[in-house]
Amino acid sequence: MENFIEVHTISDLGDNGMSLGLYCLSCQRWKEIIPNEWLSSGKPNFDYVDQKFKCEDCGKPPEKQVRWKPIKEQVRFRGLSPTEAKMRSK
Ligand SMILES: [Zn+2]
Repeated sequence: MENFIEVHTISDLGDNGMSLGLYCLSCQRWKEIIPNEWLSSGKPNFDYVDQKFKCEDCGKPPEKQVRWKPIKEQVRFRGLSPTEAKMRSK
């Protein structure tokens, strides 16, 4: 697989224009790791694969999802306005 990019650290994510999304199933909340913010705080070789992330609210380990674009940009393409999304979840 020639196109496969190995991404293990936060700087790898940043190099490839990616970010890391953390999703807590219990709280149904997204948190996003922005590579540039981590790089500027001096953790470029931080291995996110081994990292035990915790949900800030419930302390459970969230799902990790590598994203090609920041979450905010992706949400815009989903076709549901925030109001519609709310109605559906009821
Ligand atoms: Zn949670």
